[in-house]
Amino acid sequence: MASNTKSKVLFDSEEALMMVKELRVTFDCGKTRSYEWRISQLKAIIKLTEENEQEIYQALHSDLSKCETEAFVQEIAMLKNSCRIALKELKHWMTPEKVKTSIATFPSSAEIVSEPLGVVLVISAWNYPFLLSLDPVIGAIAAGNAVVLKPSEIAPATSSLLAKLLGDYLDNSCIKVVEGAVDETSALLQQKWDKIFYTGNGRVARIVMAAASKHLTPVVLELGGKSPVVVDSNINLKVATRRIIAGKWGSNNGQACISPDYIITTKDYAPKLVDALKTELEKFYGKNPLESKDLSRIVNSNHFNRLTKLLDDDKVSGKIVYGGEKDESKLKISPTVLLDVPRDSLIMNEEIFGPLLPILTVDKIEESFDVINSGSKPLAAYIFTNTKKLKEQFVMTISAGGLVVNDTTLHLAVHTLPFGGVGESGVGAYHGKFTFEAFSHKKAVLYRRFIGDAPVRYPPYTNTKMRL
Ligand code: NAD
Repeated sequence: MASNTKSKVLFDSEEALMMVKELRVTFDCGKTRSYEWRISQLKAIIKLTEENEQEIYQALHSDLSKCETEAFVQEIAMLKNSCRIALKELKHWMTPEKVKTSIATFPSSAEIVSEPLGVVLVISAWNYPFLLSLDPVIGAIAAGNAVVLKPSEIAPATSSLLAKLLGDYLDNSCIKVVEGAVDETSALLQQKWDKIFYTGNGRVARIVMAAASKHLTPVVLELGGKSPVVVDSNINLKVATRRIIAGKWGSNNGQACISPDYIITTKDYAPKLVDALKTELEKFYGKNPLESKDLSRIVNSNHFNRLTKLLDDDKVSGKIVYGGEKDESKLKISPTVLLDVPRDSLIMNEEIFGPLLPILTVDKIEESFDVINSGSKPLAAYIFTNTKKLKEQFVMTISAGGLVVNDTTLHLAVHTLPFGGVGESGVGAYHGKFTFEAFSHKKAVLYRRFIGDAPVRYPPYTNTKMRL
């Protein structure tokens, strides 16, 4: 459904084609290229967020029972911050970058000009449905593109709110929303785009990349993975535990792409860590966490059943040391810690994306690096340690989208760091200037004058010319 229709209609490939054609005409007339247009749309995103904050909270609560504090800090504030950075830096980002030239082109000058790619598609996921939809759109607009946003159908309240708000506040001749699921996304994917920015799982990412390859369309794929936390024994355990909890259960109840997926610690230290997790979890969420208003629910019954299956696996029977409570009617699962789960259990062989946290144990903490490197490259990896050498080894040997030493998930909030995966966890990156670059072509421009012709460039090639 297109945003400006504001009602549910089947969106097929013919409509998708018409929409892309219309956007291409608008893009070609140059409207989206001007600095003023980009600024006006970015300001409108801030305005739509500020004027509809309550509606956004309600939608996020309806989709995920996300509490207001999390919704504010992790979606609204982050989105506004992204927008403010783009507003502040846009002139600078758009300014051509002067670069050195070579003796072969003397005399000359050169610059790199950032130009918009054209008409781009953003396909978003359900877990941070407001932020993950609009954050790439900010970059697409800042870079001067026309854009179609396809929010996730799994967060339907936020999806329809986005369609309404973008319809009401933004320039619909250049920015459109298509709501829908597989059929609508497939119709969009059949079209020729100048960039596709996809957030979601690796299975669909392969469908997106295959569709993009038909038109040689470049892609950004923001995916997930099993993000590990290494916990050494020489740390401030209370601080580390609280930071692990904030990154796991304080981030959408574990339904976040960079949530800690599992912990690795030493056999000797594990009991202390488990005790600390129990103490802090009880302080945060009380004795009956299923009743806590500060924990999001599981998004839907498919994901609830998927997580239940991970707990029902015979291989993890008896391994729960904290939590494990469920309420299917409310789609709630309490924070759950499992100790010494086997490496071949189901829970260790897929991204958990929920409130379950297994702990693996090793004899020596250095062995944890081999455990991590034996799997796919994760989106994030974390270590808590006070040992300089271990920090250095971690940074040098662990390949992941991003690393954090002595905390979890916060690299996401540093707009000067690229956010994206490597290998199975993704292709490309965004945030801050990296989002602008993800939606720009860096055009190489060389300026020459009519002097400075080396005779050796032109035939007949003679030894005399070679010496000149
Ligand atoms: P999802 O189910 O919302 O799917 C993402 C998008 O893909 C949706 O818009 C959906 O309509 C579309 N889609 C689904 N099936 C499709 C198909 N067959 N063909 C075409 N399009 C299709 O989200 P999800 O995949 O469950 O999201 C969770 C995953 O996303 C996790 O792996 C998580 O780690 C990852 N994730 C990554 C980031 C990041 O920034 N790297 C952020 C959030 C989530």
